[in-house]
Formats: sequence, C-alpha cells, structure tokens
Amino acid sequence: MNKSIFACLVLYFLLSLNNVLATEKPDIRIKVAEYENSFEFIMPDGGTWEYGNEKGKIENNKKYIISGKLLRESIKKYHIIVGSTKINEPAQFSELANKYAFLSPYKIEIGEKPVNGFPENRLIYLAVKNFDSEEDAIKYQDVLAESNISSWIYYEAIQKPLASIKLTYKGKTLAEGQKSFFLKPTKQTILNKVEYAKGFSWHGFENRAYNGILEVKYGYSDNIECIETTDMETILAGVVPSEILPSSPDAALQAQAVAARGEILSKKGVKHFGCGYDTCSEQHCQVYKGITKILSKMSVAIKPTKGLVMENDDGTILDAVYGANCGGHSAANDKIWVSNYNPHLQGVDDLVAKGIIKDLTKEENVKDYIENPPDCWCGRKAEGASKYRWTKTITKDEWKIIEDTANIGNIRSVEIIEREVSGRIISMRLIGSEGQKTILKELPIRKLLGAGAVLKSSCFIAEFNKDKDGFINGATLKGAGWGHGVGMCQTGAQSRAKAGQNFKQILEHYFPNSKFVKLY
Ligand SMILES: [Zn+2]
Ligand SMILES: [Zn+2]
Repeated sequence: MNKSIFACLVLYFLLSLNNVLATEKPDIRIKVAEYENSFEFIMPDGGTWEYGNEKGKIENNKKYIISGKLLRESIKKYHIIVGSTKINEPAQFSELANKYAFLSPYKIEIGEKPVNGFPENRLIYLAVKNFDSEEDAIKYQDVLAESNISSWIYYEAIQKPLASIKLTYKGKTLAEGQKSFFLKPTKQTILNKVEYAKGFSWHGFENRAYNGILEVKYGYSDNIECIETTDMETILAGVVPSEILPSSPDAALQAQAVAARGEILSKKGVKHFGCGYDTCSEQHCQVYKGITKILSKMSVAIKPTKGLVMENDDGTILDAVYGANCGGHSAANDKIWVSNYNPHLQGVDDLVAKGIIKDLTKEENVKDYIENPPDCWCGRKAEGASKYRWTKTITKDEWKIIEDTANIGNIRSVEIIEREVSGRIISMRLIGSEGQKTILKELPIRKLLGAGAVLKSSCFIAEFNKDKDGFINGATLKGAGWGHGVGMCQTGAQSRAKAGQNFKQILEHYFPNSKFVKLY
C-alpha cells in the first residue's frame, strides 16, 4: 500500500471514530482573563507548564509571573453587517442580499465546521462596507441608522499581534518567546486580579480558580489572554451560580443550566470566530467566575439536565438566551438584535395569574405598565424588586456626557420612535442644535443614556428637565426590567421554581413550543 493511500485510510478511520464520539461532552474553550502586561498565578497543588517543546514543574503554592511585551498590534478589519442567515439557507440569503442590493453587499462565511456530530452553527453574514478602524466603522453605522438600517460590526482577524511573552519564577526566566504557554494544574490554577464587568457599575478585580488547561498568549485584544479548555458540564457548574442566585431551588439552577448549554453550543465556533476561543466569561457571552466553593454542589444540582438543550424547528440548537429581569414581559429577539426572527423568542408575559398585558408597542400603554406594575413572577419582592421597577435620575453632569457622546450640540428633544413587544425602546431620535441622531436597538440606547455606565433596560418613560433656552439638562427615567429581556427571565425563573414549577415547565414558558433534546 502506498503511503498516501495509507494516510487516507488512517484519516478515514479517525473521522469515523469522531462520529462514534458524537455522544461525548464537548470541550469548550473559554477566554477567562485578559491582562495588559503581566499577571501572577499560583497552583495550590502544583502542576506543569509547557512552552513549545520546553516544559517544567510548577511548585505547590508558589507565585509565578507571566509578562509580555507587545511589539506590533494585531490587524483587524471592521465589517458592517446588516444581516445573516444559516449557511445552508441560500434562498433566504438571496432575499437578504436583494433587500440590501443598493448598498453593494458582499458575503462573509463565519464559523468553524461542527465537530463530533454537533449541529451546524455556521452563518453567512451580509456585509456592506469595511474599515481599518473601529471608529470609522461606528461612524458609518450612524449613517445607516439615519436611514433606519440596523447593523453590527464584525471584526475580521487579519494578522495576530507580534509579542514576546515570558514565564518567571523568583526573578528567573523559565521560558520566553512568541509562542503560547500552556498551564496544566494538578487541581487548579489561581489567576490573580482577574478583571470583570468592564464598563458596568459593578466592575472590579478578583482572584479566580480554574481546573482546566490554560493557554496564555497575546490575542486580538492586543493583551495577554488566558483561555481555559474544559468540558461543557464543568463550565456550566461555574456559569450557573455566576448567572443565578446559587441558593435558588434546583429547578431554577437546572433551567439556567439548560439555557446556558444551549446558548454556548448554538454559538460555538461562531460568536468569537477567528479569536481562538468559543466563548468569553463576561456579559458578552455568559458570566463564568471559574471554580468556586460550591462547584460540587452545583454539579449535583444540574446533573439531571446533562446534555439537554432545546431545539429550533429545523433541529438546530435553540440559542436559549436569558436576562436578569424581563420587567413583566419578555422581548422579541429580532427587534432587540439584528438577528433573524425566531418563533421561540418572540416574548411572553410573566404574569402570575392568567391575564393580559396591554400592547406595549403602543406608547399610550407604557406609562401605566411601568407605574402600576402587574403581578408578575419577576416582580415578587424577595427576588428582584429593584430590577422589576427602577428610577434613574440623570444629573446635569451626566447629561453633558450624553451630549458629548451624541455629538449633535445641545439636545432639544428626545423622540421615542419604536418600542417592541416588551416595551423596550428600539428606536429613538435626538434633536440637537447641530443636527439629529437616530439610535437603533436597545443596547446602544442603554449605553448612551447610561452616561458612562449601562442603563438597566430600554423599557422606560422619561421626564426631561430643560434650561431657560429650552435645551435638556437632565432627566428622570422610570423603567422596568434589567437586561435585553429576550428568552428566560432569570428572576422569574427563580420565583417560579420557589412556587414548585420544575425546570421543564419554566423553560417551556419562556421558550414556547421548543422541544427538548439530549445531545449526550
Ligand atoms: Zn463573548
Ligand atoms: Zn420576568
């Protein structure tokens, strides 16, 4: 047998073995920390480090330092994306391309081929323009917004940064160069001062522990990135208590586990495509604080849901998103984000007793809904009263920040143009002394009016204060809910579980008509 035929047969054997392994728990690569120049770590029970062919021992409980120097920044291209379809939907893609034909669009294929029999997640993005800097891309998004075209920015990783990185112990360099370090703990690695919730009011630093292998390298953030590879169920045992009160009844923890598993798996290979990991440990993907004291308790609690996800009608995994508090009614995915209509993510009320919430897309119904809140699961006092209804005063100084960001001079008025089914504002226009600006989608609205932070939700009513010339100089906002509002309401899930609902009942409510499927 000649060598190439033999190689083909070996490859065929390996591939078929891969299919046999379809029922195995998938490994997930999660970016858990990012450092500008250096960080310290310890392994309480020791371990090893590897760097190319070099390797060595990590002593128990001793402080090691990894530091680096950025020699040349990474190169990225910022594409403006106006829509996407799954990779195997050519008819839908043509329809989308025709809709935006006047912008001379082009397509970009996103995602990695699925492994181990897991579903196809790859997408085709429809891009309309690209830029070398993020700043220019954002400016172009504003131009599109004036024509009521929502978009998002996809950055394509063109060239990795050039950087040198080294591992030192007691002042001595153990290895140095431009490759990745791999840290393999006997039990766990404790990373010092991991930064979390950047841009949020609860932003901070804390030491966090991880039991998987950590890859340490300079990434496209131009910082040192730590990427943990570990199995899905271990990550979930860490994600669940970071996302929902760990003291919640098991049914709420289990609902959270199924939702997070679906969210991670439906975006695997896509959301951070080209970055070298599947998901990140921040709000952007799902909050994961690593291994905590309650890990084993969580593993036991979520075990009955092992491998379980919900699916779309075409058999792909449902992106079972969730948010802190829906405010009384959950939101519609395609209105909140630039994403395709999903029948399981169109928003449902969270009423305790059967009833009707008046149409919140109509401005005249929103004031009463916010000021006289209905009896909803997520409005129960013990769970999240402060998330259910809130008031925010925008001071003069904060309004100044908003005006600086909007960059249209002094703002004279704010018009609410569109609300979606949960009452969240998804289109808003500011009229200023030097122009006007349209802001589309809930997150940009929350960021702008948060004046340096992020507003709890875009479901609010506002009273504006004005100066003697009629310009706005502050406001009082009364709002409902916390977060984007799509999918499962985490506060509602907790009080439903307390009242005796099981995890399937909870999920069936927030993701109507979606089926459960066990992947492994
Ligand atoms: Zn992320
Ligand atoms: Zn709710």
